[in-house]
Amino acid sequence: MIAKLKISLGLLTFAAAAIPAAIVSAETNDAEQSAFREALKFGFTGEAIQGGVMIGDAPAGTQSLTFEDEPIPLDEDGKFIIAFNRDAGQAANLVATLDNGQTVRQFINIAPRNWQIEHVSINRRATTRSAAFMALRGPELEQIGAARAVHSGSKGWRQNFIWPAKGRISGQFGSQRIYNGDPGSYHSGVDIAAPAGTYYVAPADGVVTLAASSPFTLEGNLVMIDHGMGLNSAFLHSSEILVHEGQQVKRGEPIGRIGSTGSATGPHLHWSMKWNDARIDPILLTGPID
Ligand SMILES: [Zn+2]
Repeated sequence: MIAKLKISLGLLTFAAAAIPAAIVSAETNDAEQSAFREALKFGFTGEAIQGGVMIGDAPAGTQSLTFEDEPIPLDEDGKFIIAFNRDAGQAANLVATLDNGQTVRQFINIAPRNWQIEHVSINRRATTRSAAFMALRGPELEQIGAARAVHSGSKGWRQNFIWPAKGRISGQFGSQRIYNGDPGSYHSGVDIAAPAGTYYVAPADGVVTLAASSPFTLEGNLVMIDHGMGLNSAFLHSSEILVHEGQQVKRGEPIGRIGSTGSATGPHLHWSMKWNDARIDPILLTGPID
């Protein structure tokens, strides 16, 4: 019985890779059919939640993948990453196309989060930007966009992320103020308060895609790291940057020192993460700070 099962599974692996599906189903019994269906499933680790990230295992024989109708890359062993924007809707659609032309669809239900929302009875401050600010801001945003467009091939996305620094969380991802019913923009990262000069480290392996040579108007001294597969980190307000563009960094390696450059009221590390266009919550990759 056990020997037969092994043979069947062996055959199935072979079948999934090379034999057209029609031949497989003609020669298999019920147990083999269900094992075959099992092999055609997605596997996931992580949570389908707003601001969250999942690492997936594509069904055997997957040739290409789409998430919300956009193509997404697949690693050699069939692993991939997807993430859900802070304001992602209730459901998302993942489709694998197999090498025999078959498609496997997976609907993902995305859990909503209770974001920290503060209603205040004052009007939103009208920000009038000076001509000097505007002249700087355009090129800064271009540099940030260019850094996000770099796909380094780093495998950092496959790792367990660590906190870049330890300290009090002084600002949560996704928190937002509503000014007399007028929503302000939500907080795009997590803030870690720590003394000026504290070293912070890479939360996972990656390649430095931006190490600003002079402070940006809002971000101050800014470091950006590509972790591969469209996943990247940004670290704001540094007092000093210890890395240069194009440098490969390892998880745990010091990359900068905490400061209050740019728009900051005190020394803290603002760490924000994106997967493609989705803004995600770093705490869902690291777990709570200790
Ligand atoms: Zn912040």
